[in-house]
Amino acid sequence: MLNIHDVERTSTIYGPGNRYVIWVQGCTLGCVGCWNTNMWSAEEKSMISVDFLLNDIQSTADIEGITLLGGEPMHQAMDLLRLCKTVKAMGLSIFLYTGFELDELKKQEEKELLDLADIIVCGRYDIQLRNTHLQWRGSSNQKVIFNTDRYAHYQLDDANYCEVEIDEDGVITISGYPDKELLNSMVKD
Ligand code: SF4
Repeated sequence: MLNIHDVERTSTIYGPGNRYVIWVQGCTLGCVGCWNTNMWSAEEKSMISVDFLLNDIQSTADIEGITLLGGEPMHQAMDLLRLCKTVKAMGLSIFLYTGFELDELKKQEEKELLDLADIIVCGRYDIQLRNTHLQWRGSSNQKVIFNTDRYAHYQLDDANYCEVEIDEDGVITISGYPDKELLNSMVKD
């Protein structure tokens, strides 16, 4: 079972193309200024089986891959490895965020998970190096690694990316790093 904070079945800002995005629950790294402190606790949020997620991924149309972020995916590497092996067998790509540096990841399941990822963004969020105009990263120390041939020719296009979703009840969800100007433009007097 995976401890999941949230799932977005299609998003375009967390990697190339349309992606099925999974925010895992639980992170011990404690980066100052983290935007996702509500994902730090390892207490159970939504316990979802790998098989359930695989079925949901398979039934989601027009995605080219999945993205894992959080929270810290490497804290649940064993179950995510099982998920990713099947996702790869479906022909989908894997985009993996981790707050760890690669040389900190020494367990077998962590290394295997890294090997499966087509793109890895790694490193702690550093508030001193915060930059909201970097594609896929929140601070300039974080590295983007094109780990397989699949996206070897991808050109990073640094800019401020965010996504706004309005559900049928009018609830607005904003993903990414919206600046004050955008947030203000969305607030009605
Ligand atoms: S690794 Fe990510 S989720 Fe964890 S504290 Fe740092 S920024 Fe937050």
